[in-house]
Amino acid sequence: MAPFLNRRDLSFQLFEVLPTADLTSRPRFAEHSREVYEDVLNLAYSVAERYFANHAREADLSEPHVVDGRVVLPAAMRDAVRAFRDAGFFSAHHDEDLGGLQLPWVVMQAVQANFQAANVSTSGYPFLTIGNANLQRVFASPEQQRRYMLPLLEGRWFGTMALSEPHAGSGLADITTTATPRPDGTYALTGTKMWISGGEHELSENIVHLVLARIAGGPAGVKGISLFLVPRYRVQEDGTPGESNHVVLAGLNHKMGYRGTTNTLLNFGEGGETIGELVGEPGRGLAQMFHMMNEARIGVGMGAVMLGTAGYLESLAYARERRQGRHASQKDPAAPPVPIIEHADVRRLLLRQKVFVEGGLALGLYASLLVDDTQTGPDDGRADAGLLLDLLTPIVKSWPSRYSQEALSDAIQVMGGAGYTRDFNVEMYYRDNRLNPIHEGTEGIQGNDLLGRKLTQAGGRGLNILLGRMQADLDASEGLDDLDEIRAALRQAITWNTQALGAILPRAAELGPDLFLANANSALEMLGHTVVGWMWLRQAATAARALPGARADADFYHGKLHAARFYATHELPKVRAHADLLASADRTTTDMHSEWF
Ligand SMILES: Cc1cc2nc3c(=O)[nH]c(=O)nc-3n(C[C@H](O)[C@H](O)[C@H](O)COP(=O)(O)OP(=O)(O)OC[C@H]3O[C@@H](n4cnc5c(N)ncnc54)[C@H](O)[C@@H]3O)c2cc1C
Repeated sequence: MAPFLNRRDLSFQLFEVLPTADLTSRPRFAEHSREVYEDVLNLAYSVAERYFANHAREADLSEPHVVDGRVVLPAAMRDAVRAFRDAGFFSAHHDEDLGGLQLPWVVMQAVQANFQAANVSTSGYPFLTIGNANLQRVFASPEQQRRYMLPLLEGRWFGTMALSEPHAGSGLADITTTATPRPDGTYALTGTKMWISGGEHELSENIVHLVLARIAGGPAGVKGISLFLVPRYRVQEDGTPGESNHVVLAGLNHKMGYRGTTNTLLNFGEGGETIGELVGEPGRGLAQMFHMMNEARIGVGMGAVMLGTAGYLESLAYARERRQGRHASQKDPAAPPVPIIEHADVRRLLLRQKVFVEGGLALGLYASLLVDDTQTGPDDGRADAGLLLDLLTPIVKSWPSRYSQEALSDAIQVMGGAGYTRDFNVEMYYRDNRLNPIHEGTEGIQGNDLLGRKLTQAGGRGLNILLGRMQADLDASEGLDDLDEIRAALRQAITWNTQALGAILPRAAELGPDLFLANANSALEMLGHTVVGWMWLRQAATAARALPGARADADFYHGKLHAARFYATHELPKVRAHADLLASADRTTTDMHSEWF
């Protein structure tokens, strides 16, 4: 079986770079220890290896299909979700009195990373379920939680998020699914939802859809959108699934990747009433859904990282084995060919993968720890943690999605023709990851969110916190050997950022929203590449501090330092081009006429 996760790196990121073990000083985690977290991660790895990695290719090749009205999935998927449930992962983040382990979110993300790397499409079912339950925990009434959330935490029922419609994807303000009040306080839903992952299957006893819909007669736009709990089977008095709720599978979408996760077109109210319960106040649906989407956006970024990681590890193993060609300096044709990892260009391709996926992992876990800080951190730091998390979320979602795609392309390149075949997994990971820049808000939407909202939110406080934290890490790494090049490159990149933002942000009103946002993608690239440079400084500083006492791990730390150098010399200079374009308020895209294409 191809390696899919670097367990050593996961521990390095969690316990050496990040202060995850210190979370035990918080009352909620007082019973935990680093050993507990390592044990949980080891369990996750073994379940992922045995029950998820075993059928990743089968899930890709045996696309879900409908037989006699039922969606057919590989049998191994049922064993996988059962093993996930038996290990207690559905509720692991939740309170002990709900059957959970009260795991911090950063550890939970690291647990999930194992499954994403092993088999991204089967892991989609539990992760949607976990996200659905987390939303209910915050917004659903106690009675709704008892009825719909507890079975999710027990892993008996699964969950979905049902936002998109055929005509409304990025523009959710235009959804038309309608909820009509019924005399008993529930609602009858009618309409069609598109792209709903996990929308129909036989893996669980019931499916709980979280559905965005408009209450009939309500206001237009976002203000009219409310959130509803809609089960596939109506829930009986005793809590068991009863008769059909008339959520009808209108079709399955046939996808490029992520094939094992069913993706559905669902009709509500076909052949009978689809009954739903309002969650919280009317008109708050999109804001509530953002609770799940923000969490999901970090999850998407982490999913991208893990696909990139799996591809990196597969191509690395191949590069160590495959012999081809000789060094340019080797003139003897009788000399044996060298392993391709000896060639500088192959090392370049491997280094690119390493900096993209390990930089992305550092970022995803950093953001996950911010989630913990907003929930359990010191009271006086929670607001700042929230603002920084808000600012970073579009980057955490988009940067790994884009750069894991590059990494996976490089993984295929390292493996030559072999990488282009189905004999290896890299082509599958490449197809799987191509979804990540699209779902949970496209890259275009994330760019608009970053430049149009997050950078100026709370008077730019999130940006100031970010700049402050980067500066603090630069200062703290002063005097560490070998980091000068990395520090200088990061300082320069930060200067390009502040100059570009200083030039563009004050011109928002003068330029008007269309022109102001025209180069939002450059903001995403500029800040994303810089933030990941910061993540590499943090890893390099940790490695430099550990190296003098390191024995067996010396190669690991040398690798971190060298990769940071690579990022500084090969990647950070690219920040400038994006900064210049952004600062200039370039009009090339807006000046292009549709007819000129
Ligand atoms: C495999 C898969 C699984 C999914 N799972 C779910 C799910 O479980 N639940 C769910 O509700 N949805 C799900 N989605 C839907 C997904 O969130 C949407 O596909 C996504 O939001 C984009 O919407 P769209 O496909 O309609 O594209 P469109 O919105 O039509 O966008 C097309 C292009 O136009 C760009 N664009 C649109 N508006 C703007 C703008 N204002 N500014 C700049 N560019 C813009 C986009 O960036 C994109 O490049 C899934 C999609 C896929 C493909």
